[in-house]
Amino acid sequence: ATPTAVMVGSGVGLNRGMLFKSAAVLEGISKIEAIGFDKTGTLTKGTPEVTDVVAARPYTEKEILAIAGSGEAPSLHPLAQAVVARARAEGVEIFEVSGYHEESGHGISCDYLGAPLLVGNRRLIEKHGIAMGELAGHLARLAGAGKTTMVVALAGRVIGIIALADVLKETTKEAIRRLQGLGLKTFMVTGDNRLVAQTVAREVGIDETAWEVLPQDKIEVVRKFQARGLKVAMVGDGINDAPALAQADIGIAIGSGTDVAKETGDVILVRNDLLDVERAIRLGRATLAKIK
Ligand code: ADP
Ligand code: MG
Repeated sequence: ATPTAVMVGSGVGLNRGMLFKSAAVLEGISKIEAIGFDKTGTLTKGTPEVTDVVAARPYTEKEILAIAGSGEAPSLHPLAQAVVARARAEGVEIFEVSGYHEESGHGISCDYLGAPLLVGNRRLIEKHGIAMGELAGHLARLAGAGKTTMVVALAGRVIGIIALADVLKETTKEAIRRLQGLGLKTFMVTGDNRLVAQTVAREVGIDETAWEVLPQDKIEVVRKFQARGLKVAMVGDGINDAPALAQADIGIAIGSGTDVAKETGDVILVRNDLLDVERAIRLGRATLAKIK
């Protein structure tokens, strides 16, 4: 192998905001057969907005926002930040909660003015032995519309539902189409519900999708593709997906990704543009062709 060809490849990448951890990575990326994507913050912008608030009597929608916003205020999760932003926009008061606890892949729990508060997905409230009750129909309706849903339970009772929607990044569809054009199998991994996952997958045209995947289980999805004998790349922003990036043959950290992702990634795409994934693979292939 001529080291010069590899350096040229990396140099070109550098100009376009593509950083390869080593020369071996350029070769590794050229051999990728399947490529996985985290949904939130990778395929989508990762800045969801609240679209609906449902309140059970005697609560009002504003009260649901105040309660959920108080519980979510300490969380850095994009869904939590969206709820807090809406609460602030509506001018409702955010209280400081005690006993705050983040339940990974589920939501949060805390003490709200002396009563136990849960804000998160259906799995979270089921885990705590609480029934959906009278709001079950609303949850099904909102999830059925392809929205991410959040349940608010106070003192053992479901008192509200908050629905949120995120939008695709501008180049997501085109990037997936081009990767498929290179002969790659594409898949998506998300902790979100089935209908959101399927709605996004259909819109993007991605080949396979895994939903309601807990953060620690994302790694298993990557292993499943590797077990089929495929060389797998995984693309993510590092929020919950660093272990999956590490498990993949090539981990690709994108955009404003976390420091964790930058440490784990074999390739770092500085610009937040998914088209760079395909460019990085083509660069790897072109560099390898020059060496051989
Ligand atoms: P993704 O795989 O889409 O990046 P996560 O693994 O971060 O999603 O979260 C999976 C699911 O867990 C979310 O769709 C949401 O239902 C729930 N969840 C996680 N954190 C929170 C939170 N702070 N508040 C409410 N729900 C949450
Ligand atoms: Mg994520």
